[in-house]
Amino acid sequence: MQEAEALSISIRGVRKTYGRVRALDSVDLDVKAGEFLTLLGPSGSGKTTLLMIIAGFIRPDCGSLRFGGREMILTPPHRRGIGMVFQSYALFPHMSVASNVAYPLKLRGVGKEEINRRVEEALELVQLSGLGNRRSNELSGGQKQRVALARAIVFAPRILLMDEPLSALDKKLREQMQLELRQLHDTLGMTTVYVTHDQREALTMSDRIAVINNGALMQLDTPRRIYDRPAGAFTADFIGESILLPAQVRNGAVYGGGIAVSADGEPPPDGEYYLLLRPEQLRLLDEESKDGYNVFAGTAQKSVYQGESVLLYVNLAGGEQLRVRHNGEAGVAEGDKVYLGLRRERVVLVARDGE
Ligand code: ADP
Ligand code: MG
Repeated sequence: MQEAEALSISIRGVRKTYGRVRALDSVDLDVKAGEFLTLLGPSGSGKTTLLMIIAGFIRPDCGSLRFGGREMILTPPHRRGIGMVFQSYALFPHMSVASNVAYPLKLRGVGKEEINRRVEEALELVQLSGLGNRRSNELSGGQKQRVALARAIVFAPRILLMDEPLSALDKKLREQMQLELRQLHDTLGMTTVYVTHDQREALTMSDRIAVINNGALMQLDTPRRIYDRPAGAFTADFIGESILLPAQVRNGAVYGGGIAVSADGEPPPDGEYYLLLRPEQLRLLDEESKDGYNVFAGTAQKSVYQGESVLLYVNLAGGEQLRVRHNGEAGVAEGDKVYLGLRRERVVLVARDGE
């Protein structure tokens, strides 16, 4: 399949209200040409609205949308050169797989032979070679989504938009398709905007993630930065398993969970923060091995066996509850005194999102 030159997407001051519901609140967002960018946020946060504005199915109240520098707000959807995949597949059920995939080419007046060739190519890319004659209502969910994907890429769009395309699939297939979709993006090189509410999916697939809440962009960053350095309490809480302990910086010293916390680098300005504690980044310490750690002393509560690890709840003297993930080798009973270690380079202070 021919590679189309990728296009950047530039969104400025885009707002959309439905009556009194503010679905999008003045969003600015730049998607780089060829990038795989994911819009991640809870249900109702405005992800679909933003995607539909890019596609041209929703007109924003105000703002600008550019593809590669060209203003697109007034361009109708079919002139935007976008491929789209939805959660619901949106296939024509009684048509064959091949006719479904051929549809965008027919609309564009492509000749029969070229259609056949490109449909075959697209089906091969999504690993459905040989299934062209099947009726699409005879396929499994995963196969249907592959057909929808083939239809979206068959005309070599420069931008591919996907709205929760894997949500209807079971976990194992979903994880396999995540890798396949990413692979396909890398092969074809188009700009991809992907929507999901599943943080793990976003972390797995994306070059960058735009975290969205209440119609506003909370953070735009690489998966690693989003996970390790969340910019605010919403992102910290939404991504990964997180405990946010109230913390303070006073005269450049950090306090939280009842101890003075030593951290790498310059502390932020004096004020109120949260200390971000993730169960897999805390260590259950022996009496002897506390060197190099910030140590939170507490009392063991219940343990939850989770197969690959054990999640232990620990109450601190000040009443806060932490969770630590460990391999289960340390036999810990409820009521035991335990010590949880946090390396200084793991200390993350999170701003309080304008509380
Ligand atoms: P998401 O895709 O993140 O779940 P949406 O973009 O679908 O969120 O919706 C954002 C907000 O806008 C929600 O509060 C939703 O109820 C509201 N909304 C979306 N579409 C409409 C509509 N056609 N009419 C009224 N409200 C809408
Ligand atoms: Mg949605």
